[in-house]
Amino acid sequence: MNTNKIGKMICGLLLCTMMMSGCSVERKTGHETATNDQDKTVVQKSKETDSSKTVEKDTADEQTATNKQDKTDTKQTTSNRTVKTQNKEAAKNDTNTNVKVNTNSNTNTKETGRTICIDAGHQRYGNNALEAIGPGSSIRKPKVTSGTEGKYTHKAESEVNLETAKKLKSILISRGYKVVMVRESQDVNISNIQRAEIANKSNADLAIRIHCDGSGNSALHGYFILTPSSSNRFLSSSIVNSSLRLTKCLLPAIQKATGANNRGISYRDDLTGTNWSKVPTVLVEMGEMSNKQEDYALSTPAYQEKMATGMANGIDDYFK
Ligand SMILES: [Zn+2]
Repeated sequence: MNTNKIGKMICGLLLCTMMMSGCSVERKTGHETATNDQDKTVVQKSKETDSSKTVEKDTADEQTATNKQDKTDTKQTTSNRTVKTQNKEAAKNDTNTNVKVNTNSNTNTKETGRTICIDAGHQRYGNNALEAIGPGSSIRKPKVTSGTEGKYTHKAESEVNLETAKKLKSILISRGYKVVMVRESQDVNISNIQRAEIANKSNADLAIRIHCDGSGNSALHGYFILTPSSSNRFLSSSIVNSSLRLTKCLLPAIQKATGANNRGISYRDDLTGTNWSKVPTVLVEMGEMSNKQEDYALSTPAYQEKMATGMANGIDDYFK
C-alpha cells in the first residue's frame, strides 16, 4: 500500500464512520425521538380513548347522567345567574322601594312627605265570597271581581289597571312621594275591604283606585271619577270633602295629559273599597274598554303613561 491508498482508506473509514454515526445520531435524536413522542402521544391518546371508552362503556348511565348533570348544572348555573340577577334587581328594586317608599332617604328627589296608596283595581281571578259594602252595613257584595275586558283587544281590565298603576308609582316616586301599592301582581286575592285597609294602615294621605269601564254602548268613551257623595253614611265629611277636592284636581289634569273626553264626577256610595277607607279616596275610570279607540289606547304603554302623568299632576295639584 502506498501512502495515497492508506490515506484514501483512512478517509473512507472516517467518512463512513461519520456518516454512520450521523445517521445513528439522527435516528436517536431525531426520528426516533419524534417517533417515540408520536408513539407516546398515540399511546396516550389511545389510553385516553380507551379510558374514555371504558368509562363510557362501564358507566354509560352515569356518564350520561353526568353529562345530563353537567347540562343541568350549566342550566342551573345559568338560571341561578338569572335568578341571582333577578334577585339582585329585585333587591335593588326592594332597596329602591324601601328607600323611596318606606323611608325619606331618597337623596335625588326632594321628598314631599306624602304617602299615596295606589290600588290597581281587580285581579286575575275574582273572589265571589261576600263582604259588607261598608262598616256596619248589611249589604254585601263580592269581595273582588275580575273586572271587564277589552272588547277589541280582549285585554283584561285588571292588567291595564296594574300596568298604569305601576307607571303612576314610578312617576310619584320620582316626584318624592312615598308609594304603597295594594298589588303588583295579577295573581293576588285581596278583597276590597282589605284594599281599603292597606291604605288605612299605611297612613296614606290619599288612596287612588285605578279602573277601566265597559259599556253596552261602544260609542261611549272618556274617563270619569267615582267619588263618595256628601250623604255617604260610612265616611266622615272631612274624607268626603277631601275626596271631592282630589277628584276636582284629577279631572282637568287627566284631560290635559291625555286629551280624552272628561265625563266628570259620578257620586257613588255603594263602593266597598271607598266606604271602608279612612283616607281620602277616589276611583278613576280611565276609559271605556268597550270603545274601539279607547280600548286600543288603554292597552298601550304610551297612553297609560299619559294617563299616569295626568293622575300624578292632579295629585300634585291636590297638595298645593
Ligand atoms: Zn273596574
